[in-house]
Amino acid sequence: MSLRVTVWNEYRHERENDYVARVYPQGIHQAIAQGLRAHGLRAVRTATLDTPEHGLSQEVLDGTDVLIWWGHKAHTEVGDPVVERVHQRVLAGMGLIVLHSGHHSKIFRRLMGTTCSLRWREADEKERIWVVMPGHPIAQGLGPYFEIPEAEMYGEHFDIPQPDELVFVSWFEGGNVFRSGCCFYRGHGKIFYFRPGHETYPIYHREDVRQVIANAVRWAAPTPGPAFPYLQGAIHETDPLEPLPEKHPGRTRVG
Ligand code: ZN
Repeated sequence: MSLRVTVWNEYRHERENDYVARVYPQGIHQAIAQGLRAHGLRAVRTATLDTPEHGLSQEVLDGTDVLIWWGHKAHTEVGDPVVERVHQRVLAGMGLIVLHSGHHSKIFRRLMGTTCSLRWREADEKERIWVVMPGHPIAQGLGPYFEIPEAEMYGEHFDIPQPDELVFVSWFEGGNVFRSGCCFYRGHGKIFYFRPGHETYPIYHREDVRQVIANAVRWAAPTPGPAFPYLQGAIHETDPLEPLPEKHPGRTRVG
């Protein structure tokens, strides 16, 4: 069965700003979805903030293997029950790809446990994205680096926990560096943060960026494995697999 992907977008800049609307006439979500379809992912749907339950009902999330998240100016308008629902799905194994300004989304900050703040500058700088883990599935098909001619700068320090795997590091024309491709594992779920993608640049139309996002979807797909009762919030006492002798009579309940 084809991987089921949901691309979530705040979808405000494109409707409120003519310049952004020219870069993404159908919205950032549609540009990303198009790129995924071009890379052979057939079951791709989209969801946006200003729809009932932000388009992320329990039914939609239960039918999503990997969720992609783009947000910027309306992070606080995302309802806490929806954030809770996404969080539980990630712990249960749904993949999550957080793009660009999604670093400050409620869901990413909750999953990281830190502020996720960073340095930034809008100055049309060249960005060179180095592959620092060439054997990683998310780097498949790329060269040693790729370049985006004009981008918003994100710089260190990026206040995240140490990534479990670091795939990309960006260099910017103005001298800053940034951990721009970071993998995290939370519960059964895999999370990938990918930096490129400011709304005024045609970055999601680029082939290299589309390749990375498609690779990340395949990497973040749920892995079949044993289910654990802690996912339902229960603390689970378990019987021993081998018989245990009673070492201190009266001290434990075993035996
Ligand atoms: Zn931005």
